[in-house]
Amino acid sequence: MTGNNFNPPPVTPTQILKTYFGYDSFREGQEEIIDTILNGRDALAIMPTGAGKSLCYQVPALLLPGITLVISPLISLMQDQVKSLNEAGIHAAYINSSLTEGQISKALSFAARGVYKIIYVAPERLETASFLNFALHTPISMVTVDEAHCISQWGQDFRPSYLKIVDFVEQLPGNPIISAFTATATEIVKNDISRILKLKNPNIVVTGFDRENLYYQVEHLTGKQKDIFIQNYIKEHANESGIIYCATRKNVDTLYEKLLKQGVSVTRYHAGMNNDIRKKSQDDFIYDRASVVIATNAFGMGIDKSNVRFVIHYNMPQSMENYYQEAGRAGRDGEPARCILLFSTQDVMISKMLLGSKDFEGMDFQEIEQVRQQDFRRLQLMEGYCMTTSCLRNYILEYFGEKPEKPCDNCGNCHQEFVETDMTKDAKWVINCISEMRGRFGQALVISTLRGAKKARLKEISATDFTSYGQLENRTEDDLRLLISQMVREGYVIQTEGEYSVLKIGNIAELQQKDSRIIVKKFKEKEKISGSRRHKSPYSEDFFQTNSVGNSSGTSNSGNSNNTAAIHKSDLFETLRQLRLQIAREESVPPYIVFTDKTLIDMCEKLPQNEDEMLGVSGVGQNKLQKYGSRFLQEIAAFLAANTQ
Ligand code: ADP
Ligand code: MG
Repeated sequence: MTGNNFNPPPVTPTQILKTYFGYDSFREGQEEIIDTILNGRDALAIMPTGAGKSLCYQVPALLLPGITLVISPLISLMQDQVKSLNEAGIHAAYINSSLTEGQISKALSFAARGVYKIIYVAPERLETASFLNFALHTPISMVTVDEAHCISQWGQDFRPSYLKIVDFVEQLPGNPIISAFTATATEIVKNDISRILKLKNPNIVVTGFDRENLYYQVEHLTGKQKDIFIQNYIKEHANESGIIYCATRKNVDTLYEKLLKQGVSVTRYHAGMNNDIRKKSQDDFIYDRASVVIATNAFGMGIDKSNVRFVIHYNMPQSMENYYQEAGRAGRDGEPARCILLFSTQDVMISKMLLGSKDFEGMDFQEIEQVRQQDFRRLQLMEGYCMTTSCLRNYILEYFGEKPEKPCDNCGNCHQEFVETDMTKDAKWVINCISEMRGRFGQALVISTLRGAKKARLKEISATDFTSYGQLENRTEDDLRLLISQMVREGYVIQTEGEYSVLKIGNIAELQQKDSRIIVKKFKEKEKISGSRRHKSPYSEDFFQTNSVGNSSGTSNSGNSNNTAAIHKSDLFETLRQLRLQIAREESVPPYIVFTDKTLIDMCEKLPQNEDEMLGVSGVGQNKLQKYGSRFLQEIAAFLAANTQ
């Protein structure tokens, strides 16, 4: 069952998709890219994380006559991909610094004999004499550049060695097709990729940025409430794999100790840890030996774990770019997953502090100023996400340049109830206060003044003598933040950019009219600290009820529907998960490489009873059927027997 020679079996992309990967249909964009490549044309694909970029080059690689070289920035990514391919019955290899010279020359000689259709290679390797020698004497049909944004100096992940790719390609005989893949959608990065790789009349395919399976949620909580929220959430979502991001190493350590004491299956990761321990922590998480990892943003690059069911941010990140990238590590398998941001006003201060201590080595004064301005602007927009009462998904999509038409009805804000409060009078006091401060101070001082706080700083600036001092003492800090951010949006107040942002009076002509009103939408008081209520995850019975009953696409073919009502599918899911874990240990691969959560869920819904039915499960291809089919069929049969009397 392997496509391991230069005479690939005469099959179509759809047949390859089914036979090797076990999927029935392509996702958005995949077919177009595959067709482009098979027509011999260069391709650039911009698709969000989890959209399925790998298949876009792996499928044509099996149909092209020669080898496909895939350039990938990280060793862990390559290993992951090669394991996945091998599991699917496709011969592939990687060549990078994790191998000895002996192993490399052995791999290259296998490759030269045509053993592998797909070879992953680190960009640094392209320049070495041995690799170049191999590449010049072996037919190479395609060079694929994965994570292609690494070529652009404008991205966060710039890798100088990516700039060498084009030199390498230009030396190759036979004009291989170039295909490039990234999730980064900015115009400047897109143009860099196309230009630097010298793509020839490429077909540029951009799919939507949205990831429908992710549920976004923001919770306004104090430090202590955050801990309680997390404890409850983990309790309610036991066994689910999740990442908790903290802003500082100290936060990571504190939260880690706390959860460990409570018996949570948890590990941690940050740059202050010893290399070996850190590597082990990461593996514990990937191999499902620990359900939850608590980490700084040092964690995540090169993690392709597909069954991450939640990403919680313990602190607000510094930009929407960071947030979307980190939160985006949830739900790569396309199953429901949750992205929760726990916000407290302190987070803004922490972020400012972290930005303030950023390293600007090698930049001149003007450049530093420019970057700082940009950093603080990004931070402000990040805060905007935490403060908005509108659809969170739309906020994200608009930030990245899309124009969504209506609220998503699948995020915390869309599911939140609001009360509307007339805050016109309060708004006038805000203006009054800013005017008394003559536009010299920031939001924090304006709010403390209005609330009549007893702070030395207010005395220092004589704010205690203002007429506005204490006028809004009944309002909470959150109320006033909400009001001011709305006034900024409506142009009544101007918030200057930069580290020492101050509030100034904007265009208030309209506000001075008699019948003008400022209505602020506020979250209805709710039981904040409990975890999620509406969220359905594959780990709960709730999920299967709504997803299987009446789901004609899945259940109708097997004739088992009489049984389905009587059994608890979440129990079956758990049983299959344990089997998967056991197999993963035997094979030394991460569990999600044996089968994804999505595949296990589909098994629970379809309840296959023979090999044919097993092949109908999404993610079960020929090779995996042969390797694992019978064990899963047995487990399902045993479960049904025990549960349907
Ligand atoms: P990306 O590189 O775009 O972040 P991956 O290539 O890692 O995404 O794919 C994410 C997940 O989606 C993988 O588990 C993959 O097997 C799955 N997948 C890809 N294409 C399909 C498809 N057509 N049908 C079902 N699942 C798919
Ligand atoms: Mg990828």
